[in-house]
Amino acid sequence: MTIDAISEALDYGLPLSSDDAGPKPTRSLRARREPLADTSAQLRRLAEVELIDANGARIEFERTLAGAGCGALLPAALEVFQINIGKLCNMTCRHCHVDAGPDRTDAMMTRETIDACLWALDKTDAHTVDITGGAAELHPHFRDLVEACVARGKHVIDRCNLTVLLLPRFHDLPAWLAERGVEVVCSLPHYRRLSTDRQRGDGTYEKSIEALRRLNAVGYGKGDPRRRLTLMTNPVGAFLAPAQASAEPEWKAALARDHGIAFDRLIALNNMPISRYLEWLDASGNLAAYMQRLVDAFNPAAVDGVMCRNTISISWDGFVYDCDFNQMLDLSCAGEGGPMHVRDFDPAAFARRRIVTRRHCFGCTAGAGSSCGGATA
Ligand code: SF4
Repeated sequence: MTIDAISEALDYGLPLSSDDAGPKPTRSLRARREPLADTSAQLRRLAEVELIDANGARIEFERTLAGAGCGALLPAALEVFQINIGKLCNMTCRHCHVDAGPDRTDAMMTRETIDACLWALDKTDAHTVDITGGAAELHPHFRDLVEACVARGKHVIDRCNLTVLLLPRFHDLPAWLAERGVEVVCSLPHYRRLSTDRQRGDGTYEKSIEALRRLNAVGYGKGDPRRRLTLMTNPVGAFLAPAQASAEPEWKAALARDHGIAFDRLIALNNMPISRYLEWLDASGNLAAYMQRLVDAFNPAAVDGVMCRNTISISWDGFVYDCDFNQMLDLSCAGEGGPMHVRDFDPAAFARRRIVTRRHCFGCTAGAGSSCGGATA
């Protein structure tokens, strides 16, 4: 079945591969059959980067942790149950660490796996369910999953790319989410048009602003804890995320002044050197310098709050990971019989696991730290 035929079958109102459905500066690694579509090639590329310390020793994340007196990362109390329900997306942003796009109908969570996630969720004390994708809203069971989590009294987060809200099928979605008290965490690289469009494609900014207006119109972003609107910024080039606390007032003033838009909080994330961002770093000759920048900015104070310690991350095919980034690199949690699947979820075994780390983990501990919840230090 073609992408457009699938869009039609799922009734999104527009073919997802069209620019009207969402701007597209590139295509997925998978669609282009790029070698980096293979996660082992990504891990190899990261391992090849020459990172040497002052004594001429090869720099590794685990050794850096030990050198700073931090020890290995250990699991803390589980607070966030993150579910990636699929890689299908209406956009194909240049820096995507998921390799999402309109062609990614190969990676969609089945109803059975959604039910297994809910069964596993009930075995935990996680207070938050973080639903992500791709564009999670495109999944045919997205609303069922939200309803099921809200019914369980969980704080639910919808990670939203904003432009998806403009698809005809989703015109009622802002009000629907508001009625259920779902927090919307929206990616917007910058409050300026140029930076946003450069990373996500021409026209993204205009569409994002329109989507934010629609969220504001149903009560999001005005200080109501049941209508929390969070914006998420990530750098457009090979830089670290801006300081979240000082950037937030600047963003609030700029979006209010230029567009009359309000939001509740800003979180800032470092780009992780994986998937399409890794491809971009490599192609633009920035990979070694960026990795060195992350290493130089290693901050021991950011280690305690890394998200792998309080989060479980479930992939579209039901495997259990320490975090979204390990998920995208296929570094799954190993149980006694191999990779752990959500249908066999054992909270005690999960709490005993050894968190898997590699060089990409420098992205979480650089500067003020970086996690799905923003800065960690
Ligand atoms: S990439 Fe994942 S495992 Fe590594 S430090 Fe970050 S959250 Fe932890």
